[in-house]
Amino acid sequence: MRLFHTSTAFYDYIDENDGASEAPFAGAAGIGFNWEKKEILAFDCAVVGRIGGLIHEMGHIFASPSDPDGRHPPQEFDFFGWEISVAKMLGVFDAWSASNGNYVITESGTTWAQCGAVERKCIVEERTDVARRIGLLDRWMRPVAIR
Ligand SMILES: [Zn+2]
Repeated sequence: MRLFHTSTAFYDYIDENDGASEAPFAGAAGIGFNWEKKEILAFDCAVVGRIGGLIHEMGHIFASPSDPDGRHPPQEFDFFGWEISVAKMLGVFDAWSASNGNYVITESGTTWAQCGAVERKCIVEERTDVARRIGLLDRWMRPVAIR
């Protein structure tokens, strides 16, 4: 992870480094990554309350085989179960959930924040199962890095 102390330093780094980009999703200002270099980027003021965004960016780096800026963009929902497992492993699931409200769950645009407790429980089980089947979790259901 590369932390910057000012937003200027963060944006200068993105401008000056090929492959570095800021996350495009809502509420992600100040968080980004360089997929090729496997770096998570953030300016330190931006990380407070953004554990959902940071874990999502980690998913791109460690749990997705394709460059989001490449010819075959990743199916991001494929590594959602990996994100859930990382949050649980770190003991920050509630904080992750609270900061992940803008994550779009369905094709019709339903977000994580709009899902009720039962729906979220089903999504957690289903996405965790998918992550296990595609090799993003080991047999003890721990997240693994695939790249
Ligand atoms: Zn993404």
